Amino acid sequence: GPGLKVISTLSVGFDHLALDEIKKRGIRVGYTPDVLTDATAELSVALLLSACRRLPEAAEQVKSGGWTTWKPLWMCGYGLSDSTVGIIGLGRIGQAVARRLKPFGVRKFLYTGSGPKPESAAEFGAEFVPLPRLAEESDFVVVTCALTPATQGMCNKDFFSRMKKTSVFINTSRGAVVNQEDLYDALASGQIAAAGLDVTTPEPLPTDHPLLSLKNCVILPHIGSATYATRSTMAVLAANNLLAGLRGEPMPHELKL
Ligand code: NDP
Repeated sequence: GPGLKVISTLSVGFDHLALDEIKKRGIRVGYTPDVLTDATAELSVALLLSACRRLPEAAEQVKSGGWTTWKPLWMCGYGLSDSTVGIIGLGRIGQAVARRLKPFGVRKFLYTGSGPKPESAAEFGAEFVPLPRLAEESDFVVVTCALTPATQGMCNKDFFSRMKKTSVFINTSRGAVVNQEDLYDALASGQIAAAGLDVTTPEPLPTDHPLLSLKNCVILPHIGSATYATRSTMAVLAANNLLAGLRGEPMPHELKL
């Protein structure tokens, strides 16, 4: 409405806000960075392991009676030992993902973004590379960037066609970073091995969506930050942002527009 003065979003992402309008009208925006980084990175790792080791598919086999005699190659997947991991967007969450994956025996980290960030990359010995090279060399691609005009649809047919047939794609950023038709084709044709998505377009994803028919695609309902402790901390921060905004005081976390 015309009287709107303050927005407090219970998220670190702000792609759902009409920023031009907000800027023009001088509306202040509070958000919740940092406090959800660990929970979202943890979920990213859980999703990666679920997709590469085929956990939902394997668990389903136990229920359906598909589990019969032991077979050497049954339900095999891909592991992190000696792998190359490519992080798209080495921000707060991207770094927290790399920090958690490193002890699994990752051999090499690559990353891409608007430019090299040597201070952030040093901890992982991560190498800044252009997006096509990240696609070509990574065994695991993890998308943790913000959704912006530059990143929208960035993971498309060209991107997936560069990935290896044995590689796994994980997205915990925003659904629109991915061209979902192109991802479907890549998964259905065996161009890539598997995918794990915490975010989709739209949300919720219709239950008859083609991606849900694929065994090699694990889809979660946007639960990155969903631990009791994190959601509680986010709620307190969002309330304090709102109160400070309404009082005309500095917010604990104000989005600089
Ligand atoms: P940060 O701002 O710390 O990191 C965002 C990263 O995006 C930056 O490192 C930035 O890189 C990168 N980026 C920007 N433009 C590009 C580009 N063109 N190509 C590649 N990378 C780019 O944010 P957070 O890590 O805190 O959060 C990241 C996103 O995760 C949020 O925007 C949100 O959408 C999503 N998220 C999802 C959750 C879930 O539940 N699944 C929960 C929380 C967040 P650079 O610095 O080089 O510009």
